[in-house]
Amino acid sequence: MARVSKKARRQAFERYAANLSLYHPSVVGQFLCPICRTVHGLDALDQPDPGVTVGHVVPQKLDGRVWTLECKCCNSRLGSDADAHLVKEHRFRQWEQAEGTWQGRLRMGDSEMGVEFDRANAGLHFREIAKQSDPRQSNALFRK
Ligand SMILES: [Zn+2]
Repeated sequence: MARVSKKARRQAFERYAANLSLYHPSVVGQFLCPICRTVHGLDALDQPDPGVTVGHVVPQKLDGRVWTLECKCCNSRLGSDADAHLVKEHRFRQWEQAEGTWQGRLRMGDSEMGVEFDRANAGLHFREIAKQSDPRQSNALFRK
């Protein structure tokens, strides 16, 4: 994964700040987070918190290369709330198109267990992954 240089981040900040000034002439040298709309000064580029970081529009794990600046907290929240699910969904969709196995969790009510799905012989089969399951919950799921 290519790291975005400090120079490129600063150029983006200045470009976004200039664009913001076009619409709000009284706001100069400020960056507006596209997620939460918090305004940051140039010093936020080098601050750990509340800092401005590079956020990828499509997660890097999915080969996303388009990026923007956003608050560090927005980037972190999106990474765990949205990007992680998007990556998992994408990989699941890829698996749906091919034969092979997929590991996941089977949940019903308050019980869950680790399972491996197998798309073979024109069907969908699954088996429990004992190492990823609590036997009491597995028993509850299948009333063993
Ligand atoms: Zn933000």
